[in-house]
Amino acid sequence: MSKILYDNHGRPINYLRLAVTDRCNLRCFYCMPAEGIAYLPKQALLTYEEMERLVSLLAEMGITKVRITGGEPFVRKDLIYFLKQISQIKGIREIHITTNGVLTVPYVAQLKEIGIASVNLSLDTLDRERFTQITRRDELERVMDCFHQLLAHQIPTKINTVVMEGKNTEDLVPLTALTRQYPVSVRFIEEMPFNGEGSHYPVLVWTHKKILDTLKEHYPDLQKVADGAFSTSYNYHIPGHQGTVGIIAAFSRTFCGTCNRIRLTAQGTLKTCLYDEGVLDIKYLMRNGATDAELQQALRYAFSHRAKDGFEAEQQRKHVSAESMSTIGG
Ligand code: SAM
Ligand code: SF4
Repeated sequence: MSKILYDNHGRPINYLRLAVTDRCNLRCFYCMPAEGIAYLPKQALLTYEEMERLVSLLAEMGITKVRITGGEPFVRKDLIYFLKQISQIKGIREIHITTNGVLTVPYVAQLKEIGIASVNLSLDTLDRERFTQITRRDELERVMDCFHQLLAHQIPTKINTVVMEGKNTEDLVPLTALTRQYPVSVRFIEEMPFNGEGSHYPVLVWTHKKILDTLKEHYPDLQKVADGAFSTSYNYHIPGHQGTVGIIAAFSRTFCGTCNRIRLTAQGTLKTCLYDEGVLDIKYLMRNGATDAELQQALRYAFSHRAKDGFEAEQQRKHVSAESMSTIGG
């Protein structure tokens, strides 16, 4: 039996989201500015050895699930080597990956071999022009190739779609229609103010409620299905479809009460809430000789001082967010 780690609000913490790089080969509108991004210098990123050490320490404390994210994880050299290493850490039962799919295809067979539990593929539109407008790169074909390769290898696949006023709302129905032909979960996400520049809108237009109403208009027989214990999405099924459709209220923050996740940013900072500004500089501690016991003590302290929800975490920030999701990892 593995240990269960609880925060100060009685929520179990068992899930680490690990951003292995801040670099990316796309420039999604909601995540990064088109130009002028200052990437972290290489030495500011944790090394694979440092990340392995941290994952091992967290696994001893009760973390069982890891999601590899970024930036684009496949931009980082030797990612497969790292995945193999962490797949062997005692206590880590599931490794998941979030990717934009552009560079992923050559590695899909190896992901299957390593036993990657699922892949979340980011795909905001099925239209080439809109894809190019949103990501500022003309790469839809490679992303669709990745989608088909993942399914061919029977790797459980989810599609993540950020819903943006004036950019891709006409894609809600065609993306949902993918669930008819494919056993895939398509999840529509409220846009969050992490584009590297601050918020795009004074008020969020495409809230989870508006997304649901729009889906119901086209699919009046949409049926609610049970959400998993720590699910961030409200999930639905359309009769006759193989897959499911989900809505993630990422900006409205309706899921904080069951939040089981922590994040390590690309620069090696611990976030115990997506909306906090980083609560512990793990890289600093590691590079200044902290022992395993000292690191675990610092982590425990952070977990026992966690904000109760994303609103409280936001209020406690000293600076208004100009963060990019590419350093946070989603
Ligand atoms: N590059 C990979 C990808 O795009 O899948 C992994 C990193 S990306 C930061 C992780 C997830 O965060 C993606 O699904 C992306 O759509 C989502 N994301 C990025 N910026 C966002 C924002 N401002 N609001 C909501 N979701 C966002
Ligand atoms: Fe890159 Fe992912 Fe951010 Fe798009 S969402 S710019 S693919 S890190």
